[in-house]
Amino acid sequence: MAKSPFRTGRAGRIAEADSVVVIGLGRFGRALALELMQTGTEVLGIDNDEEIVQSLNGELTQVVRADSTREETLRQLAVHEFDRAVVAIGGDIQANILTASILRGFEIPHLWAKATSDQHGRILEQLGVAHVTYPEAEMGRRVAHLVRGAALDYIPVDNDYSLVKMSPNSIVIGRRLGESGIRQKYGVTVMAVRRGVEPWCNADSDTVVQADDTILIAGPTVKAEAFGQLR
Ligand code: ATP
Repeated sequence: MAKSPFRTGRAGRIAEADSVVVIGLGRFGRALALELMQTGTEVLGIDNDEEIVQSLNGELTQVVRADSTREETLRQLAVHEFDRAVVAIGGDIQANILTASILRGFEIPHLWAKATSDQHGRILEQLGVAHVTYPEAEMGRRVAHLVRGAALDYIPVDNDYSLVKMSPNSIVIGRRLGESGIRQKYGVTVMAVRRGVEPWCNADSDTVVQADDTILIAGPTVKAEAFGQLR
């Protein structure tokens, strides 16, 4: 088995504080690992499928073929030295739970695991996994909001609070946000504005939104969604 560059690489370092181990490189794990790399985080990817490992060779800091249900194997890869780990195995619930249990035993401070159902999520929580994520369910809910309204994007911050990216409506176009009464009347706040291809700018009470701008609003989900449907 290849040794980890996180342990023995050029700098001879052990896993750096912000490096992440991602176990299970299916669609979810792969997208997550590549996004982490994109934003400058070092990633050790682990999967037991040789083809998947080959396909990601050179794309991650290191990618290794290994069975994550074997504690000794994970130790050899220095997984216990990481601060952050994600169990992204989905379909094989047994492998997911076993892996999460081993990582809990390693006392990795920041542990995420993907759950495929509420029961599965409950077991992970009982194991003490701090961050249980439900990608399919979360994406389904997000898309439902997009399908129902006119939002360009919808990001739930929590169950009851959301960010909505949208085209501006008549309530905010052409006057200072401070005069629009948007907070008092609609219970939402314009956080940022984007003009054409310019970068996003934070909005304040003097910001005047134009019809072809894009805006980002924040507020309680029901109010943000209702505002997103006003023209
Ligand atoms: P996705 O929706 O992200 O594609 P999935 O729900 O189809 O995932 P699986 O296919 O079960 O989930 O797992 C994702 C990845 O995890 C696969 O690439 C699989 O090879 C890998 N995997 C499964 N079991 C193990 C294991 N014991 N050790 C390492 N990798 C594993």
